[in-house]
Amino acid sequence: MPDEIRLAPDYTEARGRFLDAAHAVGARLERYDHPLTGPAGEALATDVAFVGAPDAPTRLLIISGTHGVEGFAGSLCQTEWLRAGASVPDDLAVVLVHAINPYGFAWIRRVNEDNVDLNRNCIDFRAGLPENAGYDQLADALVPPSWDEETQQSTAGVLLDFASEHGFDGLQDAVSKGQYRHPTGVFYGGNRPVWSQRTLEQIGRSELVAASRTGIIDLHTGLGPFGVGELIGSHPAPEGRQRLGDWFGEYTMPSEGTSVSADVSGDVLDALDEWVESPEITGVAIEWGTVDIIEVSNALRGDAWLHAHADPRGPEAGPVKDALRAAFAPDDPQWARMVWDRFTEVTAAATDGLLS
Ligand SMILES: [Zn+2]
Repeated sequence: MPDEIRLAPDYTEARGRFLDAAHAVGARLERYDHPLTGPAGEALATDVAFVGAPDAPTRLLIISGTHGVEGFAGSLCQTEWLRAGASVPDDLAVVLVHAINPYGFAWIRRVNEDNVDLNRNCIDFRAGLPENAGYDQLADALVPPSWDEETQQSTAGVLLDFASEHGFDGLQDAVSKGQYRHPTGVFYGGNRPVWSQRTLEQIGRSELVAASRTGIIDLHTGLGPFGVGELIGSHPAPEGRQRLGDWFGEYTMPSEGTSVSADVSGDVLDALDEWVESPEITGVAIEWGTVDIIEVSNALRGDAWLHAHADPRGPEAGPVKDALRAAFAPDDPQWARMVWDRFTEVTAAATDGLLS
């Protein structure tokens, strides 16, 4: 473990570091090519590294880049874990899913190539689309047709008015729990399973099928205090709750209002629970805080505006992408260190839990 660890400068470099580290420990690698390319024409893929015995009865799946740009931190964790030797106890295999949303990672977006939030996309589309009346009311203010100073101020006023009527939690809920009617808006869940969802399902079904016990850690950034990694549970059922408590001690539940996250619809942890025929699945997300929530929200709105109403390769892109990167992947070695320390703590607890 070097004294100073840094996030990679871009997706391709992050991917290269991950693959090099995986090769160095003799991991089995699988590649899922994405049909599109990055902003410089670079190839995009989700890479999977499998470490441990092929027939190991317990599996720990660790996912980076569910939210594209948040993959800088997740990729760092996965790569440093491999570089640290990737030692796994007998009976355990670790499956690292690198950049499940490679398009968002490469383009510095939280969403994917369809402006879809993968963690709102894993719903049953045949059952009809969830309603979000609060978002409908705010849609025009959240992503306005222009993003000049004046518009930012006037639209901030609309959001503040909503907050004074419904509280800040009410605002966060309306904005971020997921919406299915505004394809160029923020936190859009899409209208069909996207490439990343289909790919994750394929990975889950093929890599976890032999497991009797499965742990899943999905790595996120952008909510909460700087560098603090909140552990978010995804199991309302009593046995799941019991395991989360036994393994990790403290954790939060969005459905109970104890988390920095809103209670979202269609996240990947719930979906994996359904796809994977493992008798016991324990899933958590780690959510590392960065900057304050207003800055995060403005960065997301600016990015949605850029891709809906301007040119993501044009002159306006620079400041928008800088703001987004700062909000989800701060270039600060101290932050990276806090991320890595928390990651090792959580993976150690999950490993102990799985083997107990
Ligand atoms: Zn996230």
